[in-house]
Amino acid sequence: MTYRVVWFKRDLRVHDHAPLVEAARLGPVLCLYIVEPALWRQPDAARQHLGFVRDSLRDLRADLRRLGARLHWAVGDAVDVLQRINDQAPFLELLSHQETGNAVSFERDLRVQRWCRAQAKPWREFRQFGVVRGLRERRHWVRQWEQLTHETQQAVRSLQDAPVPQHADAWPSADALGLPDHEPPQRQRGGRVAGESVLQEFLLERSARYRGGISSPLSAPTACSRLSPYLTWGCLSLREVVQSTRCRLEHPGLPPHQRLGLEGFLSRLHWHCHFIQKLETEPAIEHANMHRGYDGLREPDHNPAHLQALVEGRTGWPLVDACVAMLRETGWLNFRMRAMLVSVAAYPLWLHWRPVGEWLAREFLDYEPGIHWSQLQMQSGTTGINTTRVYNPIKQARDHDPQGRFVRQWLPAMRRVPDAWLFEPWRMPPDVQARCGVVVGRDIAQPVVDLEAAMRDAKQRLYARRTAPDVVAAQDGIVRRHGSRSRGAENLARARTPDTPCQTSLDFS
Ligand SMILES: Cc1cc2nc3c(=O)[nH]c(=O)nc-3n(C[C@H](O)[C@H](O)[C@H](O)COP(=O)(O)OP(=O)(O)OC[C@H]3O[C@@H](n4cnc5c(N)ncnc54)[C@H](O)[C@@H]3O)c2cc1C
Repeated sequence: MTYRVVWFKRDLRVHDHAPLVEAARLGPVLCLYIVEPALWRQPDAARQHLGFVRDSLRDLRADLRRLGARLHWAVGDAVDVLQRINDQAPFLELLSHQETGNAVSFERDLRVQRWCRAQAKPWREFRQFGVVRGLRERRHWVRQWEQLTHETQQAVRSLQDAPVPQHADAWPSADALGLPDHEPPQRQRGGRVAGESVLQEFLLERSARYRGGISSPLSAPTACSRLSPYLTWGCLSLREVVQSTRCRLEHPGLPPHQRLGLEGFLSRLHWHCHFIQKLETEPAIEHANMHRGYDGLREPDHNPAHLQALVEGRTGWPLVDACVAMLRETGWLNFRMRAMLVSVAAYPLWLHWRPVGEWLAREFLDYEPGIHWSQLQMQSGTTGINTTRVYNPIKQARDHDPQGRFVRQWLPAMRRVPDAWLFEPWRMPPDVQARCGVVVGRDIAQPVVDLEAAMRDAKQRLYARRTAPDVVAAQDGIVRRHGSRSRGAENLARARTPDTPCQTSLDFS
């Protein structure tokens, strides 16, 4: 009996799935998903991630069944599982997508590679993102992204199921995997069907609100594409999202503002891979400062009470606490509010990005290690190559929630606070507190630090470190390794070709 194993990881779909297409072309296939307890026990794993995966596997199983194959799932260490399958009936080859995950999945891949070598079994890995393994020459990066996203999407018409007994271990509970208790009640549902529907409604309608709508936490939930978890867990392929967008852009009647919105969306799909490439190039940035000159900057002053206040949404700054409340409920926040949360953590609260990032990784349904850790470092000022941006949560509230609709939606006590005290409710005099029935320190938190003074102090400390001779001297090496986002975006604009192929399964009529 000869068959191949297709290992599904964070690519939970059959459409445009190169390993599946290749295995199907060559003969019988065993389609496998492995629940790896060692991965789920990491501090970046969350109950909502497992829930989303489970939703997605339901669709995957149905799609595979339609094509003639079963989905096998197993619980355990990947090498042990592959060994077990091979002991029952030796397979010819392992096929999967490349993964740029966390340090534990990277180590796991190295062990799988060693096992495959020892068994004389080829393991072929296919690209699904515009990320290049062993990238040497950054100059050609944009071209490869364009090339990948222009390739034809691949579809499997039918599958020959491997004639082996079904592997179906008991699905472990979130408790058994040691996952923290919380799951956002309003998180997005996983799966291909949900992903396609979000893509379709975004391209047809919601993208008209993308430009101008993505910054405010009020408009962002419907103006943003909301495609991030479907890209992270691979329910949709990056290529099909890019190509469907290009297709939509070709529509002659597309209003100009929607066109601009879709163009902005396309450049973010480029950033998606640009940031994952950073982790692929330098896996250490998951744990260590990209610029080692910032080592020791915040560590000695770590204040657990500050972290706790942030995590519990009790910083006292209404917009920050409202964002935390929304995150707990939905598992999602827009870019600006994510950046503001990290900025507040990194500057006035003077927290190192690693514990903040672990907490947010669990809170974000779309947790994608490459984007996440790069952004955590960028917003904390430890990359050495990005302009430092310090978001003032009061200014952000004035700019993006001037009437307080967002904070009042998520912080019920704020509904009773008069407009005059909306942005700095802790300054309410006692008689105002008594009249509106909101006591600072009881119904709403007292700020953990003096915002202005703490931000000033943080900027000075960062500036002093940034201008230290050894830090300046090490800068060039980082630019060489990682480049900058703006240069990438410029290159993208130059690389765009007018004869973009148009391929989509969506109905734009
Ligand atoms: C501190 C911090 C942590 C973040 N962590 C993650 C993460 O773990 N996973 C994740 O997908 N995004 C992350 N982002 C980027 C961004 O906030 C989310 O991609 C976006 O909010 C997801 O919503 P959307 O799909 O509606 O976005 P849209 O605006 O519709 O963007 C479409 C897609 O482009 C990509 N994208 C958008 N913005 C960025 C960006 N700035 N950098 C890289 N890719 C981008 C995402 O894949 C996104 O799904 C993070 C941002 C910050 C500031």
